[in-house]
Amino acid sequence: MKNADALVLGAGIVGVCVALHLQKRGRSTVLVDRRGPAEETSFGNAGLIQREGVYPYGFPHDFGALLRYGLNRTIDAHYHPSAIPRLTPFLWRYWKHSRPARHAAIARSYAKLIEHCISEHDALAAEAGAQGLLRRSGWMKLFRTARERDARLAEAERWHREFGLNHRALDAKTLQALEPHLAPVLIGALHWTDPVSVTDPQGLALAYLGLFERLGGRFVQGNAASLEAEGNGWRLRTVDGPITAAAAVVALGPWADVVTRALGYDLPLAVKRGYHMHYRPAGRATLGHPALDTERGYFLAPMRRGIRLTTGAEFALRDAIRTPVQLGRAEPIARELFPLAERLDTEPWMGARPCTPDMMPIIGKAPRHANLWFAFGHAHHGLTLGPVTGRLVSEMMAGEAPFVDPSPYRPERF
Ligand SMILES: Cc1cc2nc3c(=O)[nH]c(=O)nc-3n(C[C@H](O)[C@H](O)[C@H](O)COP(=O)(O)OP(=O)(O)OC[C@H]3O[C@@H](n4cnc5c(N)ncnc54)[C@H](O)[C@@H]3O)c2cc1C
Repeated sequence: MKNADALVLGAGIVGVCVALHLQKRGRSTVLVDRRGPAEETSFGNAGLIQREGVYPYGFPHDFGALLRYGLNRTIDAHYHPSAIPRLTPFLWRYWKHSRPARHAAIARSYAKLIEHCISEHDALAAEAGAQGLLRRSGWMKLFRTARERDARLAEAERWHREFGLNHRALDAKTLQALEPHLAPVLIGALHWTDPVSVTDPQGLALAYLGLFERLGGRFVQGNAASLEAEGNGWRLRTVDGPITAAAAVVALGPWADVVTRALGYDLPLAVKRGYHMHYRPAGRATLGHPALDTERGYFLAPMRRGIRLTTGAEFALRDAIRTPVQLGRAEPIARELFPLAERLDTEPWMGARPCTPDMMPIIGKAPRHANLWFAFGHAHHGLTLGPVTGRLVSEMMAGEAPFVDPSPYRPERF
C-alpha cells in the first residue's frame, strides 16, 4: 500500500490543475483517471480561455427563442424528448437562476473567478513550457443581421463598463480584411480582444501534467467508484494497487455523481453534451480567429489538427446514445461560410459539459466528510477556469488565504 497526501480523482483539465497546484505546495499527490489524462471533455472543447465569459450561459427567457428550441430543429440547442421528464427539475432551477436580476448577481460572483483565467493559465503555461499552445488573437462573434449585431454590441458595451472587458466592433470591410476566406455574407463582427485560445486543449492539459510529474506527482489509472473512507483519510484501488491518502478531491467533471451519490450527496448536476469534427481547410484557406456563427449557432476554431467545428448544447442523459444532429445541420452552413475540405475524424467526438443549475462550479470542502473536497461543475468554462480552480482548492486545502473568496461556489449552497 502506497501513501500520499492527496488523491485527485479525474484527470481532466480541472483535476490536472488541482493536482499540479497541490504538488507545487509540496503535497505528494496522486492523480487518478480510469482512462488516460484529458481524454474526455477536456479533449475536445472549443479551446477558448473565455476572459469575456463573466455571464455564464443562461437558459433563454424570451418567448421566440423558447419556441425555436421547443421545435427541436435549431443548431445551437437540441434535446432528447425522452430525457425531458428526468431533466425537468434541473431545467426549472436553471431557468429560475437565469432570470435577468438573478443572472446579473451570479455574473458578479462568477466574474471574480473569470478575471484570473488568463493570468493563471499564463503562470502554469510558462512553467510547463506550453506558451506555444496559446494564441493571443481573441475570438469573434460573426453577424449576419443588424439586429443581432446591435444587441451583442450593446451588451459588450455594458460589460465593458461593468467588468472592464475589451472588444472591437468590426464592419464588413474590416472583417473581410482580417478574415479574407470567410464568405462575404457577414455584416460585421464583435471581436473580443482579451481572450486567449488554445490550439490543442488536450495538449495543454498534458503539458500541465508533465510539469506535475516533474515536480514529483504521479498519474495512475484507477476507478474513482472504489473510493472508501479509511480512518481520517481515503483509500482507492488502482492498477498500481491500493493507495491511501490523507485527503481526496473529486474532480470528475460530468461523472462527479459517481462518487458524490455513493457518499450520500444529492447535488443537482446535469450535462449539456456537445460534438466536434475536424476539417482540412480547402486550398490555402486560413482562419486567423476562432469564430462563432452567431445566428446559426456553431463555432469554428483553428486548431493544430485542422478546423474544429464544435456544436452548442444537447440536453440529454449523460450516457444516452450519441445523436450528432447539430453537427449534421451545421456542417453544410459552415461549408458555405468557410472553405472546409474533407472531414479528418472518422466519427464525431462527443463531450458532456458538467452543469449546475446556478451556472457556477462547485468548489470547496465536502459538507459532511472530513478531508474531502469538490471541484466540478464547470459547464462551458472548464478549460477557462481549470487553473483558477486548481489554485483555489489547493490554497483552501493548505489552509492558506484563498486568492478569491470561495463562498459563492461552496457545495452547501445546494
Ligand atoms: C463542445 C464543447 C465545447 C467547449 N468549449 C469550451 C471552451 O471553449 N472553453 C472552456 O473553457 N470550456 C469549454 N467547454 C467545457 C470544458 O470542456 C469542460 O468544462 C471541461 O473540460 C471540464 O473539465 P473537467 O476536468 O471537469 O472534466 P473532464 O475533462 O470530463 O474530466 C473528468 C475525468 O474524470 C474521469 N473519470 C470519469 N469517471 C471516472 C471513474 N469512475 N474513475 C476515474 N476517473 C473517471 C474521466 O475519464 C475524465 O478524464 C466545452 C465543452 C464542450 C463539450
